[in-house]
Parts: sequence; structure tokens; C-alpha cells
Amino acid sequence: LDVVRSVEPRVADAIGAELADQRESLKLIASENYASPAVLLAMGNWFSDKYAEGTVGRRFYAGCRNVDTVESIAAEHARELFGAAHAYVQPHSGIDANLVAFWAVLADRVEVPALARAGVRQVNDLTEQDWAVLRRELGDQRMLGMSLDAGGHLTHGFRPNISGKMFDQRSYGTDPVTGLLDYDEVRRIAREFRPLILMAGYSAYPRRVNFRLMREIADEVGATFMVDMAHFAGLVAGKVFTGDFDPVPHAHIVTTTTHKSLRGPRGGMVLCGPELAAQVDRGCPMVLGGPLPHVMAAKAVALAEARRPDFQAYAGRVVENAAALAEGLSRRGASLVTGGTDNHLLLVDVSGYGLTGRQAEAALLDAGIVTNRNSVPRDPNGAWYTSGVRLGTPALTSRGLGVAEMDEVAGLVHTVLAGTRPEAGPDGVASKARYRLDRAVADRVAGRAADLLANH
Ligand code: PLP
Repeated sequence: LDVVRSVEPRVADAIGAELADQRESLKLIASENYASPAVLLAMGNWFSDKYAEGTVGRRFYAGCRNVDTVESIAAEHARELFGAAHAYVQPHSGIDANLVAFWAVLADRVEVPALARAGVRQVNDLTEQDWAVLRRELGDQRMLGMSLDAGGHLTHGFRPNISGKMFDQRSYGTDPVTGLLDYDEVRRIAREFRPLILMAGYSAYPRRVNFRLMREIADEVGATFMVDMAHFAGLVAGKVFTGDFDPVPHAHIVTTTTHKSLRGPRGGMVLCGPELAAQVDRGCPMVLGGPLPHVMAAKAVALAEARRPDFQAYAGRVVENAAALAEGLSRRGASLVTGGTDNHLLLVDVSGYGLTGRQAEAALLDAGIVTNRNSVPRDPNGAWYTSGVRLGTPALTSRGLGVAEMDEVAGLVHTVLAGTRPEAGPDGVASKARYRLDRAVADRVAGRAADLLANH
């Protein structure tokens, strides 16, 4: 840090403070983790200085032999780990991976009559005029994904994201009583809507998804079946989600981030069969610029780690811990969407505590517990204030906390939520943001959280 400090001390201070925050607070954000020192070191090095547009052995820059090495190793580990025919490890993030996949499917499936007449099949060969035709035709392309408030992700066709502008989108939700995915309802909507892409995957759905059933629905309506496994890739890698719950054998194309339960560097990845491989490899220059070779090096290391038996044990513990956390909260009276979890996350409906998600998130942070607010299905408080907080166990499991500690964590979360009261704004009107939490309670919980982590 001294080297950084000699140039910009404020950045050095922020890095130090971030390390302290991450060490001392209970990190329950379901999409975060702690990458290993090997992953962090593979990422912080001279690869960052290298341009390498293109693919392995076919670059638009000279001097890429070392980048070729790390990109090949990362792709090889990804193929072996997930049992995929093809892996594209260049996407810089989950959103990039999804964009690469969308364009691969579009390029593969959308016949633009004007282009077909001209014999043009590659997106890269399009002229301005072709693009005008393509844009018109794209407006008709449809995507069906999980609704945001049921736990889907913005990139699955929602308005504020480019995917919502590229596709005519519809969504499937969850059963209003059980909170579970209703496959018959997905089938009904798919038959009516006939999407080009049927999308599965989520950011806040606390249950496994049966990908075999989803593929059957996709086949019935002639859709390409895409799964965004960003959240649960670590559980697939760790062989906790197998058979019907492993997306790779069932989907035409799978995307993921590498930094959540998979515990790698921030980044994305696309897996597919041989039919889509050539289109996926056109991610650069279609959607991406130069790859991040330092991040690909770190992906290679993280994927190598995920192939080891201890990663399977880790993934198993992530799910056990989530179940224990859910059990501990339910026992104390918390209301959980779907009543529990069978993956790495749970969603607490904090309206039972008389709070909005925003108030709950802020109060928990005051007490050293880092979470994020999240909509619950059909949320009356909308996507900003929300009525839920999402909790996940990948990070605390990486710290070595187990089932016994999860019960204590549940107790701390409950103490904070039960001890927080909403407060009126200055105008006397009930605020969705303001809250009161006794400082002594917050300090006691923060102290206990730090003690729990001190041994891990
Ligand atoms: N897909 C899913 C299901 C996600 O949960 C996320 C991140 O929250 C993304 C994609 C986007 O990933 P990134 O933040 O790396 O762009």
C-alpha cells in the first residue's frame, strides 16, 4: 500500500479501510465472496498492460503468446469443470456475458430476409443499410424471463437495461401462495408468447430451478434456452446442483459471473455447445473491446481452485449454512419468501418487522451486518424502498463460519430488525427511509459480529 500511498494517499486509505470493513463486518450480500490470495495476485500484475483483441491464436495485436496461454487455461478449466463443449472467458462482467450470448443467439437464429438474399450471415459483415433492416426485425424478437420482483435480473429483458430495449419482453413470476416457480404457468406464457429466448436464472430466488423442465418448455415453443447462472455457478461447480438442477446439460447457452459463489475475480463467462461456439467467440468485437488478460489469469486460477475437492465441500457448506440461517430466522419469527431456501440465499420479508427494505438494510449496516435490500414478489414498496432484504452465505462460508455460527448470525439479524423502528420525516409523514435503532443495541451486535469473525 505504501507504493499507492506515495502517489495518491486517499486511495491507499480507501483500500485499507475497505480491507478493514470486509474483515470486520458480517458480509451477507448473496452476490459477494472473498477471492483467495492466489486469485487476487493473479489479477494484480503486468497482464493489465496488454491488448489482445481477438481469440486465442487469432489476435489483432502482436505479442499475445502469454495471454493465449492464460486464456486457453481458463477456458480449459471452465470446460472441464462445467462439462461444456465451449467456454468463452473474455466477458468483463455478467452483463457483458449476457450481451455476448444474446448476440450469439440473434446472429444464429434471426434470419434477416434482406441479408439472406445477399448471402450475408455474419453480424460483422453488416452494412449500415443491413443494420437498419436488422434493427427493425430485432424489434420483433421476444424474450421470456423471470420477473424482477420474483428474483430475475435486469439483464433478462427489463426496461432500464439494454436487453429491455433489444427485446420485446415478458416475464413469468412465482406462485402467489407458495412463492415457488410454477412451471405450468411458464409453459402457458411461453405457448402464448413464443419467445426466441427462454431465459432462466435469478438474483434473488431462494430455490433451485428444474432446468430439464424449462428446456422441455423451450423445445415445445422453439425457443433457445439460455440460463444465467451468475448467482449459483459455485453450486454447479461444487456439484451441489446436479442432474435436473445443473443448467449446462440442458441449456443451449449458459452465462455466468465469476465473482459470486464461484469465488473468482470480477468477470463473466459464456458456455455453449459447438453450434453456437463461433458466434460466441465474436463477442469481441461485437460487444467487447480488448479482453482483460489479468482477469482471465485470475479466472484460470479460480477455476482451477473450483476443480479441487475442497471446493465441493465449500459449496455443500454454503447451502447447509443458508438452510441454518433460514431456520434460525424462521424460529425467531422472521417471514421468508418461499418459507426457506435450497440454494445460497434467502429473502426476508421485513414488513413483518414494520420496516421497509431500505430501513432494514441501513439499520443492519449500522450494526456491522452488510446486506442489500431487495423487492419481494408483488412488492408494495417498489424497487427502491422494497420490503425485503436478501441474505446469502457464500462469503461467510469462505470465512469458515458453519451451521452453529449461522444460528448466532440469525439471532444478530433478528435483534437488529426487531429493535429498529420506522421514524417519521421532518414533515411528520411516515418515511420509508428513516428509522431509529438504539446505539447500544447496534454496538453490541457489531461487537459480537466482529468477535465471530475474529477467529475466521
Ligand atoms: N446476471 C445475474 C443473475 C446477476 O445477479 C448479475 C449481478 O448482479 C448479473 C448478471 C450482472 O453481473 P455484473 O454485475 O458482473 O455485470
